[in-house]
Amino acid sequence: MSVYDTIVIGAGLTGLTAACRLAQAGQKVLLTALGEGALLLAPGCIDVLGFQPADSQQPVKDPLAQLDSFLSDNPDHPYRLLGKETLAAGLTAFQELVNRHGLNFQGDPHHNWHLPTTIGAVHPTCLAPASMAGGDLQKAAKVLIVGFRELRDFYPTLIADNLNSQSLGVQASALQLDAPPPVAGRVNITPIQLAHAFEDPLFRRRLVQAVAPHSKGVDKIGFPAVLGLAEHAGVLADLQKGLGKPVFEINTLPPSVPGRRLFEALRDAFLKAGGRLIIGGKILAGRIENGRVVEIRLETASRAKPLRAENIILATGGIFGGGLQTDASGRVWEPIFGLPLHAEDNRHRWFTRSFFASTGQPVANYGVMVNARFNPVDEAGQPVAENLFAAGAVLAHSEWTRGRTGDGLAVTTAYAIAEQLTRSAQ
Ligand SMILES: Cc1cc2nc3c(=O)[nH]c(=O)nc-3n(C[C@H](O)[C@H](O)[C@H](O)COP(=O)(O)OP(=O)(O)OC[C@H]3O[C@@H](n4cnc5c(N)ncnc54)[C@H](O)[C@@H]3O)c2cc1C
Repeated sequence: MSVYDTIVIGAGLTGLTAACRLAQAGQKVLLTALGEGALLLAPGCIDVLGFQPADSQQPVKDPLAQLDSFLSDNPDHPYRLLGKETLAAGLTAFQELVNRHGLNFQGDPHHNWHLPTTIGAVHPTCLAPASMAGGDLQKAAKVLIVGFRELRDFYPTLIADNLNSQSLGVQASALQLDAPPPVAGRVNITPIQLAHAFEDPLFRRRLVQAVAPHSKGVDKIGFPAVLGLAEHAGVLADLQKGLGKPVFEINTLPPSVPGRRLFEALRDAFLKAGGRLIIGGKILAGRIENGRVVEIRLETASRAKPLRAENIILATGGIFGGGLQTDASGRVWEPIFGLPLHAEDNRHRWFTRSFFASTGQPVANYGVMVNARFNPVDEAGQPVAENLFAAGAVLAHSEWTRGRTGDGLAVTTAYAIAEQLTRSAQ
């Protein structure tokens, strides 16, 4: 008898989404992860399809409408296993999930926001926190971009100049400030540190006094995405009230404050639904017998502890996340089950000569091959284990940098597997 209905390995966007849905459906779920995943590095929005074709300069406006064209260029991409209906349902379900747990994600699968990035480029994304969606560049507006000398890697003049040079209909100006005390004068502070400072009402009052004289004649004001963590909604409302204008957030370089808010909302939703979470819980190996995973082994201080479940979801990410391992000899392997991979064991074939090649880098497509149920399969297409499922960045052909599909794939493959497991348990 298994202790858990499902064990999810990996607490990135994929693992958290799957674990939440299953726990909320009444399953007994263990989520175990070595670390916190790419969410804390990525912008904290849900990119579904941003550029099609991948080398197009024009950001996609309607991701679902462009899906067929994307799949014709990328026939092996796992979006093919989902189809438009599941993709849309997964995105809507995700939006409802996070919005029930304190966030305010805006958007729909037939629309991309075009948001300013930290270098003033355009970031097409499907679901975004309201605070970021407020910076949508598709509406003409006069915007003031505010930065802080103490914050590293956020340059309002660079952002404004780049936005103005792209004929977007946005007229941007820049304001670089010394942050109010207690941040004033500190060097190279991180977005997370500044986000904590924004939760102090006195800090915000002083900031409003410094920004207000520069905001006359502008329609809205953009800040780095540091407007609070747990108290984000209150911080945003307070700043808008104080400045008398809409305020929006522009993503920063990592660590990502919106990514942390999303991580915490999903984690809390999972725990509230009765899930058990182990962060720092590395799975060392898994045993497959007669076409089923019978056991996985969790690293502990004293021994490798066996864990059992009816189903296992592998959401361990790609090379970044630890779901795939590589070495200098060119070997690529999946470390828990030793699954068959789409990969080249010749490291000279991992990369193309041009970093920005329109075909992408082959290594970014390496991963676990799956069937329509998301069971890992061997070269002959035969499932390796009927109760093992793989989702998100660990999947083969899931290269995300060119089309901007990584978050959408994470959320929707997690949704598809969770739906399948919930239905089969009924
Ligand atoms: C810096 C960065 C920026 C990105 N920007 C974008 C973007 O702008 N747009 C976009 O679409 N996508 C972007 N992505 C990709 C996107 O974030 C990911 O594709 C998506 O979040 C999928 O995450 P995942 O949950 O599948 O994997 P990950 O987030 O990598 O999570 C993997 C999880 O598995 C755990 N794990 C691994 N091995 C083990 C083990 N043996 N035992 C236990 N746990 C284990 C890890 O600790 C982690 O918790 C970015 C990724 C990175 C790294």
